[in-house]
Amino acid sequence: MVSPNIVVVGGCMIDFTSYCPRLPKEGETVHGSQFKNAFGGKGANQCIAAAKLGGKTALIARVGDDTWGEQYLSNLKDFKVDTDFVHITPNFSSGIAQINVAESGANQIVVIAGANSRLNIEDVENAKDVIGNADVVVCQLETQPEVALATLELCKGISILNAAPASTSCNEKLFTLPTIFCVNESEASIFTGTPVDNLSGAKIAVELLLRKGCNTVILTLGSQGSLLASKRSPNPIHVPVRAVQCVDSTGAGDSFIGTLAYLLGTRKDMTFEKCVEISNYVAADSVTKLGTQASFPGPEILERYFN
Ligand code: ADP
Repeated sequence: MVSPNIVVVGGCMIDFTSYCPRLPKEGETVHGSQFKNAFGGKGANQCIAAAKLGGKTALIARVGDDTWGEQYLSNLKDFKVDTDFVHITPNFSSGIAQINVAESGANQIVVIAGANSRLNIEDVENAKDVIGNADVVVCQLETQPEVALATLELCKGISILNAAPASTSCNEKLFTLPTIFCVNESEASIFTGTPVDNLSGAKIAVELLLRKGCNTVILTLGSQGSLLASKRSPNPIHVPVRAVQCVDSTGAGDSFIGTLAYLLGTRKDMTFEKCVEISNYVAADSVTKLGTQASFPGPEILERYFN
């Protein structure tokens, strides 16, 4: 296999979604109308988003020793992701999310981290060559924070921390180590303690994140695009996104991060702002289709952007 230049460390989850007229009460059985099963997890999603664009990617992750683990591995291989560091974990289930969605749109979710909870510093150290040689390394906070910290410390290229899910208390190195710290509005609000419900609130959050020691901050703003700022250029720049018909925004952030990793790893002549603009463009395409990994576009989207 060609050596990967985009390496993602993170989680693999399998979503089991049941659609029902209303959510069941405790002890109650409700007959639903439809069931959907999909591969997810921020780490795997971001890796597949980059791979679908044509990136040479590797994932460092854990799946369970169950039928879902095997299926996840073959899903990754279908997208030509290098799975040498995706370990099957004995006596653990794969990461599972059981989701009930009512007709009103209300939901209930039970998440079992399963094998994801076993991803550890040793797994990252065993992959130190592949991490050290990568042009771009991506991690999130779905796995233990020590795993993200160890990854960021081993990275010699560009590192992207998608600091999700957010928490009010975290090691300050998570702000200072990554080249790029990327969050959405609700995560930015949790990390900074300031409301992020409009552009001026978002700008304040970006400034606060820079004050916490971030090198470069990207705050994604859904249908409004993204904001970016860096130590060298601290005034937040708003990069708007085109208007699209949104049918399912699940995984938009993962599409954005995967695209950004792909562009930073392959189009080294491109300005950072241009990479963000194209990541917006690609993520906008993903919200026009149902599903998460299924909605991530292939390389034709880049041709469409440039032509
Ligand atoms: P997350 O999925 O993590 O909540 P966002 O909702 O901020 O992240 O979306 C990430 C990116 O996806 C945005 O910066 C934007 O580029 C694109 N995006 C999301 N929703 C829309 C939308 N409704 N229209 C156009 N682009 C969108």
